[in-house]
Amino acid sequence: NTFAEIDLGEMMNQNIRRCKYVKPTPVQRYAIPIALAGRDLMACAQTGSGKTAAFCFPIITGIMRDQYIQRSRGGRTVYPLGLILSPTRELSCQIHDEAKKFSYQTGVKVVVAYGGASINQQLRELERGVDILVATPGRLVDLLERARVSLQAIRYLALDEADRMLDMGFEPQIRKIVEQMDMPNRGVRQTMLFSATFPREIQRLASDFLSNYIFLAV
Ligand code: AMP
Repeated sequence: NTFAEIDLGEMMNQNIRRCKYVKPTPVQRYAIPIALAGRDLMACAQTGSGKTAAFCFPIITGIMRDQYIQRSRGGRTVYPLGLILSPTRELSCQIHDEAKKFSYQTGVKVVVAYGGASINQQLRELERGVDILVATPGRLVDLLERARVSLQAIRYLALDEADRMLDMGFEPQIRKIVEQMDMPNRGVRQTMLFSATFPREIQRLASDFLSNYIFLAV
């Protein structure tokens, strides 16, 4: 029941200590090993459960382990390896702040893009390269339409607060986003879906986006 028992690597363990996390929360304890083993995951977890680390740690570790890192380059169109979708600007910024701490000195670059703010600064940030993109669905669709982001290299996808994203009417955008990574990445992409509730619409998303997934309720 310690982070050291979960095989995240020394670099991540240092960052976890730096964040003063002493022991994993229940969702971290169960979700991280499942994700590190490469399985798709549907997790019912509330805000405050520590779910951000539960999906960030495996994505950062995975990118380091798979050495996909050298593929990440800046340029007009960028090809992130990990994508975290979240419903709001506030939540996206929180995830970005945490993910930056978790990835400190790993070489894994995290960038955030959200709506309701000028796109220009976000474009400039993206141009410098991105491994993990944290985004709200509407702004990401905009970036895809401008061909400033491509999802063809995505290996890791996390949907955070999926029920809230559906409540906010983002289902068409989410489907459009996931469609863009489906063809080239069939069988390669690892997907984690986090939701506080598990109604029929979320079950439908899970069966459409996840393959052979493990269901976790904490
Ligand atoms: P979250 O549910 O991801 O929004 O996390 C809620 C809060 O708990 C955040 O402030 C985290 O930094 C903190 N937190 C997450 N995991 C741990 C942990 N294992 N130990 C202590 N604090 C944590």
